[in-house]
Amino acid sequence: MNSQWYGIVLLGGPGSGKGTQAVLLASALNIPHISTGDLFRYNLKQGTPLGILAKSYMDRGELVPDEVTVAMVRDRLSQPDCALGFILDGFPRNVAQAEALDAVLAEFGRVITSAPYLHVNDAVLLERLSNRWTCRSCGAVFNKVTPPPREGCKKEHCDGELYRRPDDEPETQKNRIRVYEKQTAPLIIFYAKRGLISEISGEQDVEHVQLDMLRAVNLGMSGSSSQGAMKPSAADEEC
Ligand code: AMP
Repeated sequence: MNSQWYGIVLLGGPGSGKGTQAVLLASALNIPHISTGDLFRYNLKQGTPLGILAKSYMDRGELVPDEVTVAMVRDRLSQPDCALGFILDGFPRNVAQAEALDAVLAEFGRVITSAPYLHVNDAVLLERLSNRWTCRSCGAVFNKVTPPPREGCKKEHCDGELYRRPDDEPETQKNRIRVYEKQTAPLIIFYAKRGLISEISGEQDVEHVQLDMLRAVNLGMSGSSSQGAMKPSAADEEC
């Protein structure tokens, strides 16, 4: 379908649907979905030093230190399956990581091409996180909209056990949202200054969000009422 190169950064709070949408988009564009949270959880499952280090931060809803995270992403982006691009989900999480990402891409002669931003109100985010179940085996996510089957995962022949992520517990959730607002939300302005942000309502059903996402990454701006390219306001420019 494409010979184009896609450098996509998917933005949105915890529980905004980034994971679900990234999987669909990756399949539509035939590029890998790279989730730093999944990479840390994979390392934890394998018992690697990286996984053990990450766990202490993840359990508190805090960010894993930038140098560790950036090195992991750099390594992942060097893999051959990123030749046509990638969708980053959960990275960058702060401006320092975004700048480090630019430096890594510059080494490859590439730049970020779009940054769809899934907007969901805080109350909805909290409700979604408290109803979230994850498959221990394949990482599939279930919630109120796609309720978990009683007998386990059942996604594409998987029969993994479903569990609640420790960082989906109420106190950790609140901290993750605080961390997101303080450290990650400023990235909306960071990418808006380059004209790369398209705001999409993450409160629509999965199919409509996906259509908006496809428009955002292929065309940049579209006429859809739920989506629009954001320009930084004068006040934003000052900060
Ligand atoms: P996620 O699955 O994206 O919600 O990430 C789960 C947890 O992994 C986060 O709360 C952080 O502790 C850690 N994590 C994931 N991505 C990053 C990142 N880009 N920088 C630092 N920590 C991260």
